[in-house]
Amino acid sequence: MSGKGLVLSFGSVNVDIVAYSRALVRPGETIHAERYAMGLGGKGANQAAAAARLASAMGLRAELAGRTGADAFGHLARDKLAPFGVGLSGLREDPANPTGIALIGVDAAGENAITVVGGANMAIDGGDVQALAPMLRDTRVLLLQLETPLAASLEAAALARAHGAIVILDPAPVPTDGLPAEAWAAVDLLTPNETETERLVGIRPVDPESAAAAADRIEARGPSRVIVKLGARGVFFRDGTESGFVAPFPVRAVDSVAAGDSFNGGLAVALARGDRLADAVRFAAACGALATTRPGAADAAPTFDEVKALLG
Ligand code: ADP
Repeated sequence: MSGKGLVLSFGSVNVDIVAYSRALVRPGETIHAERYAMGLGGKGANQAAAAARLASAMGLRAELAGRTGADAFGHLARDKLAPFGVGLSGLREDPANPTGIALIGVDAAGENAITVVGGANMAIDGGDVQALAPMLRDTRVLLLQLETPLAASLEAAALARAHGAIVILDPAPVPTDGLPAEAWAAVDLLTPNETETERLVGIRPVDPESAAAAADRIEARGPSRVIVKLGARGVFFRDGTESGFVAPFPVRAVDSVAAGDSFNGGLAVALARGDRLADAVRFAAACGALATTRPGAADAAPTFDEVKALLG
């Protein structure tokens, strides 16, 4: 195993199948869409890809751990991941479950309707964590999301943390009954967006003041560091010693899909190279902003040179 600092994303891998039609299909209806596209999806994969696109220029490496099925979509996902330079030795092929897919309809106004079939993602369990133990012990920053079973993610968090890793949880999607106490306690850094923040702690963050109030409530439940992502309004952060607000970088946004995933991938590599939180958040905000200037999810993630140019 290389001695380079490791960023590991342990989470979901999907194939997104997007149909573009004038209107979205209604119950009982059959419609004809104009075109479709197939791409890589799943927050685990998107965040790994975003981190990997940046990692080698920063003297780091990025790996993705999770499950695909032993099927054509699994091969497609791996083929789409390879060009990002993401390590896939922790991505298991599950013979019993299909690769996760997201069936996405998009209408002429850009409104969408999404059905996710979790498949192999939802079969991740403690056995996956056991198999990953050597990699988890070697991890500098662990990226988690909530599109795979929470129990396995928390086991991975405990193991990585015991060996000095920083554990980042992107609480997306927020479970219907919220986050259990053990999840709050298991992570170092929580990175909700506006709607996730409101669902988790009952405050809708719209400016630095309301984001700070929400961060108070989040800290009270466990994580020592909090980042509240406010989309085109910027981002608030706080750790034990420092808090601040990073205004949005001025960009021409065309598609905000996966801005948060590029943000988290960028955040992870910046922390893995040793940035303090304020600098890592600025780096991540530049990644999120650049991702909005291009269509697509993982494909929209920026390179290190692009981030450096935007940071000035
Ligand atoms: P999510 O995709 O999780 O909802 P956000 O939309 O909040 O995440 O985006 C994550 C971060 O990306 C924001 O906090 C911000 O730093 C940056 N960002 C997102 N949209 C824009 C935008 N239109 N202009 C500039 N920066 C943006």
